[in-house]
Amino acid sequence: MKLVPKIDLEKCIGDAVCEAMCPDVFEMADDDKAHVINPDGCGELCDCEEAAEACPTEAIILEEVEEE
Ligand code: SF4
Repeated sequence: MKLVPKIDLEKCIGDAVCEAMCPDVFEMADDDKAHVINPDGCGELCDCEEAAEACPTEAIILEEVEEE
């Protein structure tokens, strides 16, 4: 199983905490919300669980998917 992150844009307040922790996975966009730029980046590039816990509004959703 691997974790694939998604952002709940309704909850995201754009404080860029996730981008600061994991710039290879999360990136702020023109809408002042975080977006996932590399859904396969959890693990090697980012501790996605740590980032999800650090998000003040719990806007980062981690889905467990089967490894291909
Ligand atoms: S840490 Fe959460 S609220 Fe902050 S930019 Fe990332 S997803 Fe949005």
